[in-house]
Order: sequence, then structure tokens, then C-alpha cells
Amino acid sequence: MTVKKIYKLGSKVLRKKSEQVENFDEELKSKVKDLKDTLFNFQKEYGIGRAIASPQIGYHQKIVYFNKDDNELLMINPKILEKSEEKFEVWDSCFSFNVSFFIKIERSKKIKVKYQDIEGIAHVQEFKDDLSELFQHEIDHLHGILATDHLKSNKDIILREVWEKKYQ
Ligand SMILES: [Zn+2]
Repeated sequence: MTVKKIYKLGSKVLRKKSEQVENFDEELKSKVKDLKDTLFNFQKEYGIGRAIASPQIGYHQKIVYFNKDDNELLMINPKILEKSEEKFEVWDSCFSFNVSFFIKIERSKKIKVKYQDIEGIAHVQEFKDDLSELFQHEIDHLHGILATDHLKSNKDIILREVWEKKYQ
């Protein structure tokens, strides 16, 4: 079990773009395991969080790992093929912000994503609503983009404790 350090807002590590995964080997499996261990540890510590992207633990290869209520999804080299024009407002946060504040931003309601699994087999899947906004967030990480980059107004930042009172 390896819980890795999560790089935080302000770190240049989060701004570096990730490369395509070319080798579906043991090294990739070990990186996926680290992502999983780090996600589980964060969920335990902070009581929140659904997914993690590889640059957050300093790996600049395109990997996104999701796990919520025993549903898991691993996406290698995810690429958004289509985004719906229809958007919705979401309160977003990030492990890299310690989930200490939330920001109101817009995301597409539906996306179509192409990705590979751990064996390198390609899949195309559609996501809507909460999973759509989540995977837009995670795939952004692979391009060095953070949720705060989508802020339209600096009035749309609130502390977690306020968010919990108002929206939970
Ligand atoms: Zn994030």
C-alpha cells in the first residue's frame, strides 16, 4: 500500500501536461495501485472525494481513477470526444485544494469519452450530470487545468463549512 503525497494548488506539478500511456505493463499497474491507495486514504481522512487524476500524485501519464460506493472505473488516456452544448452549474472542489473551499462553475451536462482499460482495450462511454462534471474535472488535470481556471466571478468561491450549511 502506497499512499502518495497529493500536490496542492500553487504547485507547478499540477500544471504540467500528461503524456499518453504507451505501455500497459506492470509499472502502469503499480501506478494505478498508488492512485487507488491515495484516493482511499483521502476519502477516509476527509470524508469526501470520488476520483483522482495521475498528476495529483506527480505521475504525468494520463490516468484517472474513480471509486464511489464500490463502483470503480479506471480510464487510461481518456479523451473527451463530445461535450453537450447544454451546461449546468456545479459546486466544484478538489483534493488539491484540500477540499477546503468550493467554487461555482459551469460544466457540460453530457460528455462522450474514449479511454483504454488496464489491458489497453478501447472503450467509448457517455456520462451525464454528476459523472459528466466529475470526469471533465479529472480530464482537465491531465492537461494541467484546475477547476479554479473556470471561475467566472471571484464571488463564486466559498469555504467548505459554508457550502455544507448551504448546499448539503
Ligand atoms: Zn481535482
